[in-house]
Amino acid sequence: MSENTFKALLLEKDNDEFNASLKTLSLDDLPDGDVLVSVAYSTLNYKDGLAVTNKGKVVRGFPMVPGIDLAGIVAESSSPDYKAGDQVVLTGWGVGEKYWGGYSQMARLKAGWLVPLPSGLTLAQSMGIGTAGFTAMLSVLALEKMGLTPGDGEVVVTGASGGVGSIAVAVLANLGYTVVASTGRTESHDYLKELGAAEVVDRSPFALSKRPLESARWAGAVDTVGGETLAALLKTMNPGASVTACGNAGGFDLPTTVFPFILRGVNLLGIDSVMVPYDQRVEAWRRLAQDLPLDALDQAMEIAPLSNIKSLAEDILQGQVRGRLVIDVNA
Ligand code: NDP
Repeated sequence: MSENTFKALLLEKDNDEFNASLKTLSLDDLPDGDVLVSVAYSTLNYKDGLAVTNKGKVVRGFPMVPGIDLAGIVAESSSPDYKAGDQVVLTGWGVGEKYWGGYSQMARLKAGWLVPLPSGLTLAQSMGIGTAGFTAMLSVLALEKMGLTPGDGEVVVTGASGGVGSIAVAVLANLGYTVVASTGRTESHDYLKELGAAEVVDRSPFALSKRPLESARWAGAVDTVGGETLAALLKTMNPGASVTACGNAGGFDLPTTVFPFILRGVNLLGIDSVMVPYDQRVEAWRRLAQDLPLDALDQAMEIAPLSNIKSLAEDILQGQVRGRLVIDVNA
């Protein structure tokens, strides 16, 4: 490969024919932007699974380099905010959906999309966190903003063995919360306890009840699943308690009633990690570097080569990926 060429996963569509393949591209193929980044790692998020397998209308234009997050080293910059050699992290902003993303050895990006690598984290660790971990921290910050404290009672995390769930369990446990992890995978119970869950419960009861309200149990909840799971959580929140909703791994319907809201004052807090303003991003990353124990992060992350991305994308959609999968774009 010459100095100006690099490897990237390219998604192409010709009429209705979809193709995802590793291609050799040149720097001239990259879109406009003021910072050229030599990418070290990206990650596999649920959304990336949809993009790589051409499901869910994640990709807004072709050809597309997917990968909704990345960490790397600035190679060139015309922005005063970054210089060659700076280590940077990117999540969101439509990168990997609307704009070329992280499944590439090189990326040309807008400076405003980047944040400096948080101190205390390596590039690999920052992607061990990635979009999912960033979203987990946004969820924790949203609960804190509503006044939740560890003394209030049990906090439940659904989809707990997934990326968002794993990091949420580890952060909340480290902050002193009594965390109950809900999972459909019996083989994940030990893993979730190692991350800090005080109790692990099976996901099925969360979807069974047909009554409008059930006995209240939770002081707070981080939901990554949506659908009937979120509806069931709403029925079991303590009066005045809050549940964050970031995901739809279990469905996008919300078959609920108004009763949790009007009889218990339950709060449903929406979490969108894509368009978070810069200052809030920096704060969320600072909190992650501070409140996520690195040994828990090591437990929750694995590194896989970009060359395996197609089968890994199928795995995450089948709920087969545990924790966080970091993608080494140079392997
Ligand atoms: P993962 O695939 O890693 O985790 C999702 C988890 O949900 C699975 O591990 C599984 O956990 C559980 N799950 C999967 N299918 C079902 C089902 N049918 N019923 C109940 N539970 C199920 O995804 P991520 O953690 O990366 O993301 C979680 C969700 O959050 C996704 O929908 C994703 O798109 C969304 N998301 C949203 C963001 C935002 O900005 N709003 C940002 C990042 C993610 P277990 O096996 O433990 O039961």
